Amino acid sequence: MNDLTPTPGGGCRSAPVLKQRGQREVFCGLTGIIWLHRKMQDAFFLVVGSRTCAHLLQSAAGVMIFAEPRFGTAILEEQDLAGMKDAHTELDREVARLLDRRPDIRQLFLVGSCPSEVIKIDLARAAERLTQVHAPHVRVLNYSGSGIETTFTEGEDACLASMVPVLKDTPARELLLVGALPDVVEDQMLSLLGQMGIDNIRLLPARRIDETTAVGANTVFALTQPFLGETHAALMRRGARHIPAPMPFGEEGTTAWLRAVAAEFGVDDATFDAVTAAPRARARKAIAQAAEHLNGKSIFFFPDSQLEIPLARFLTRECGMTAVEVGSPYIHDAIHGPDLDLLPAGPQISEGQDVDLQLDRVRAARPDLTVCGLGLANPLEAEGLTTKWAIELVFTPVHFYEQAGDLAGLFSRPIRRKSVLRVEAA
Ligand code: SF4
Repeated sequence: MNDLTPTPGGGCRSAPVLKQRGQREVFCGLTGIIWLHRKMQDAFFLVVGSRTCAHLLQSAAGVMIFAEPRFGTAILEEQDLAGMKDAHTELDREVARLLDRRPDIRQLFLVGSCPSEVIKIDLARAAERLTQVHAPHVRVLNYSGSGIETTFTEGEDACLASMVPVLKDTPARELLLVGALPDVVEDQMLSLLGQMGIDNIRLLPARRIDETTAVGANTVFALTQPFLGETHAALMRRGARHIPAPMPFGEEGTTAWLRAVAAEFGVDDATFDAVTAAPRARARKAIAQAAEHLNGKSIFFFPDSQLEIPLARFLTRECGMTAVEVGSPYIHDAIHGPDLDLLPAGPQISEGQDVDLQLDRVRAARPDLTVCGLGLANPLEAEGLTTKWAIELVFTPVHFYEQAGDLAGLFSRPIRRKSVLRVEAA
């Protein structure tokens, strides 16, 4: 059975890509800690960074003042680095103090940042040394959340990729689902797959270290986020096989994603349809309500969250929008190809950023909605453009059927608000 309507113009996979490398306006990879610490309940993220890094985390995750935090910053000043040996000794002391005080911590991530003094510290060596000291109770890993040449969702990718080499080996034929989803969304996903009879499933990241996630030559994996390029490569190196699929956004994307997994596990059409019919109908109805305000409107994506391509696919095919430009920080054919196949031909596809040139293009196009980072949103609003913050898309549950209406609503709200303001001003 074909769940998809044909793609007008044959899709965008082979469309010319405008590649740009210039000044960029993005958050750094430390941002990922804000959702990862909620997901991995026995993990602690120790940022080895500067006061700027500490301020970013505190202001972006201010909500943590209500809970025992599961991230902190080991602030390094110039004088700490007078001798590298001292920096390592200081780090070891910080970690020992932390783990002594917090026996609930089972996974400790040393997160690198971009100040030059931090880059000089070999955090991989520190993680190995600290693992030897604190194993088996605590596993210490490291990754970089640096803002140099990264965009904010790469923090999650780097974190998950750091876990892949230490995952246990398994010869079992298992499905590994990769990407941090809110628990409620993850439960919906597991329930849909379970109803189809697919229950040999592991998750990366798991909620706790004891829920052993393993990988091997018989593992097949599906990504639930489009920004996991490094993790994808690390899993392939472990012999796992990727199930290519559009991302599970909207009714159509969710169905295509589930269909790809179901086909891999030999689920028959009757079972697939019986499991998906009701949530598909609910999703279509919820999308239709929000789409009333989106139909016929144009949209322009600045490259930011790496969700741009699947979202453009959802908004054009299911909500009636027209994409003017779809910018993504990176485009991986293996990951984004299935969504590009479905994206109707027409928009400029761009990779990377030269922000001034892109601002010229958005000003010339004057789209009905511009998706961009926080730094660009206010100036563009001041010029009369309607904007949507890309970062909200990562903090809001938007995957799978039950969230499809909310996902469309995230885009329709700013457009509705603008039209109400216009009416009031008239
Ligand atoms: Fe700033 Fe770099 Fe720290 Fe991110 S990692 S907060 S970009 S100093």
